[in-house]
Amino acid sequence: MFFKDIAGQEKIKNQLIDNVNKNRISHGYLFAEHEGSGALGMAFAYARYINCNDRGQNDSCGQCNACLKFNKIAHPDLHVFFPAAPGKDNDKSNSKLYINKFREAILDSHYMSLSKWYEHIGIEKKQAIINAQDCNEIIRLASIKTYESKYKIFILWMAEKLQYNAAPKLLKIIEEPYDYTIFIFITTDLHQIPETILSRLQLIRFPPLSRTEIKNALIEKCGCRKEAASNISFQASGSLTEALELFQLNQPEEIFYLFRDWLRSCYILKPAEIFAHTDKIASFGREKQKAFLEFGLKIFNQCLLMNYNAIEPVKNFDEVSDFLLKFSKFVNHKNIIAINESFDDAISHIERNANGKILFADLSFKMHKFFKLSYS
Ligand SMILES: [Zn+2]
Repeated sequence: MFFKDIAGQEKIKNQLIDNVNKNRISHGYLFAEHEGSGALGMAFAYARYINCNDRGQNDSCGQCNACLKFNKIAHPDLHVFFPAAPGKDNDKSNSKLYINKFREAILDSHYMSLSKWYEHIGIEKKQAIINAQDCNEIIRLASIKTYESKYKIFILWMAEKLQYNAAPKLLKIIEEPYDYTIFIFITTDLHQIPETILSRLQLIRFPPLSRTEIKNALIEKCGCRKEAASNISFQASGSLTEALELFQLNQPEEIFYLFRDWLRSCYILKPAEIFAHTDKIASFGREKQKAFLEFGLKIFNQCLLMNYNAIEPVKNFDEVSDFLLKFSKFVNHKNIIAINESFDDAISHIERNANGKILFADLSFKMHKFFKLSYS
């Protein structure tokens, strides 16, 4: 990971680069991110930049001995900790046991969600934590000399998963760290970070990415077509992680067009058209049916905000924006609660294996009623 690999967040990149070039590196950071906005990649890019032997004005060299080791996340002065739990390959749990799996996952994509990580190590339903053993290991590693670089860097991903009674172990070394030791804590849930830790770190907030930043990243990183990138950027709510998952899984263009056409058929109440659409939706797998409904909830929410002038209509024209403009007048205070409830119910029924054909047909006729409510 280099700074150039991180989408957007230019202000933060500049601040970190400035920290290094003006010799103002802090001993401890807390990267508090809107999920999927790039904090994990940024932590690695920053760690690399700090230890690069031939760094440039704006990024690491990529060629030096340190960079070559960072390419494999195998630099001996870089220590990474993350949530883990006993899984199919390990009956015990700590970060060390899973480090190879972590390298593998992160080298595949540093825009990684916690659920993807759990899936990767096969602990989907278990409660993963950064445990006391990890904290003891951090304390041990902090006390030994660096191997080859000036700085020793600890990255703690998902610091909100620090085991409650283990976290106090770290207070002393964060408060009075050894020389040239840097801690980078990353969290997606700032409220769960204990005040005692928070107060000892420099807080850097990562805002959600804009639709344009997500769209451009999809086009550049995945060769995604412009129109599809635009549709995904709408669904991803400021998270490039979510956008990339959508790109891989959901053929989001299909979801947008199907949603738009289904809704039109509900509005004009043409049963043959409605059933053609609902059969198609019901043929999707469960996750994709849920993605369809979640996309719908986002559309209704945007429509409501636009209808009450709470947000400006989107300026850069694309098919989603065009649809929102035309459709927003049918979503208002008279029907939004009923619409949201019906969609939420449908999602929970799908999770419980409801029959898709019946469920979506029923939802279609309800939608027709809800549209009528909007101008009653
Ligand atoms: Zn280098």
